[in-house]
Amino acid sequence: MIMDMNEHLQIRTYKKTGHLEVICGSMFSGKTEELIRRIRRAEIAKQRVKVFKPRIDDRYSEFSIVSHNESSYPSEVLENADEILEKCFDAEVIGIDEAQFFDNNLVYVCQSLADAGKRVIVAGLDQDYKAVPFDPIPQLLAIAEYITKTLAVCVICGAPANRTQRVAKSSDRVLVGGENFYEARCRLHHIVSEGE
Ligand code: ADP
Ligand code: MG
Repeated sequence: MIMDMNEHLQIRTYKKTGHLEVICGSMFSGKTEELIRRIRRAEIAKQRVKVFKPRIDDRYSEFSIVSHNESSYPSEVLENADEILEKCFDAEVIGIDEAQFFDNNLVYVCQSLADAGKRVIVAGLDQDYKAVPFDPIPQLLAIAEYITKTLAVCVICGAPANRTQRVAKSSDRVLVGGENFYEARCRLHHIVSEGE
């Protein structure tokens, strides 16, 4: 009798397990750079990759995620998190940038994709300009297998910066902009004015 090779070697084949990675930190801390680095490596490994970002952040490009040091990678702009599920049947690795601007359904979406055996890499701001945790990033951190906290450089003192200072006049939570509106600051030099 010819023995089944797997049986002989006692190899059990399991469905590939997925996981969730979260890259979070202040503005200018290198989240997008790090996301692009991981996606490029997945591409070198010949894995099928898809990258998404929310409609609200099409300030630099509608067709790519773009870092502050001008590295970029093609992406699709979506209106809401549910659309990600419809577009990922084929993908093995899924990158999501500016995740804080997606709705809270993103948590369910990431969980479902990882449950389906995919590698999900999410990058987003973990705090708003008042240093208040920015949903749905805290919820994603709770369910992630891997977490990377990136720090920028405080523009005042050069210390590691964990916060985002708004330098434009607005008290809306979401005010999309770059260096003209925001600075990276450490805890000591981050200021939230009265009434904000
Ligand atoms: P994020 O996605 O976290 O906003 P990016 O990946 O887009 O960050 O940009 C990171 C890059 O921003 C750095 O490599 C650096 O060139 C640039 N940069 C500008 N200001 C700062 C700062 N204060 N601290 C660190 N990097 C900065
Ligand atoms: Mg970014």
